[in-house]
Amino acid sequence: MKIGVLALQGAVREHIRLLELAGAEAVAVKRAEELADLDGLVIPGGESTTIGKLMRQYGLREPIMRLHEQGKPIFGTCAGLIMIAKRVENLDEPHLDLMDIDVKRNAFGRQRESFEADLAIKGVADVFPAVFIRAPYIEKVGEGVEVLSVIEDKIVAARQDRLLCAAFHPELTDDVRFHAYFVEMVRESMVTNVAK
Ligand code: GLN
Repeated sequence: MKIGVLALQGAVREHIRLLELAGAEAVAVKRAEELADLDGLVIPGGESTTIGKLMRQYGLREPIMRLHEQGKPIFGTCAGLIMIAKRVENLDEPHLDLMDIDVKRNAFGRQRESFEADLAIKGVADVFPAVFIRAPYIEKVGEGVEVLSVIEDKIVAARQDRLLCAAFHPELTDDVRFHAYFVEMVRESMVTNVAK
């Protein structure tokens, strides 16, 4: 199993470390050719405007959409969540147009630019140490989307079939459970992708 971490910006090494601890082979990717043989992809946090610009500049938008069409799981954290959302407030055109969610950026307000919170995440952990940095949240989800975690009535983690997202940074802790959940998603997808 080989999982790529989109290496345009953000905590790439931290994601690779946790994916490896969760038992996967993980590599940094930034060229279209490197996407072809992946079984799954992580899109890290950073600044979604910058990541979006670089993604288009490097011709990565279509190859990533194709990965999704092939049934390969994608996990977006923080800005990565913004990247995979179908609808982002004040953004005319979505970056990747994949996940049926409505997202608000920098949504926790100035007083709470960064903070930590213990979250219950369905299927992942009863108590997960979540680090939020200028985080977005999900205002609304479409029918096929399962809400995995909520804080102060705000949705901060969700799954839609082979798409997974978190508004916080699971890669900035030593807790491997969220990454292990994604690795399991990739494992399951490989079984069914082969069976197809
Ligand atoms: N505020 C950033 C954005 O809007 C996301 C922050 C992050 O990834 N830590 O893209």
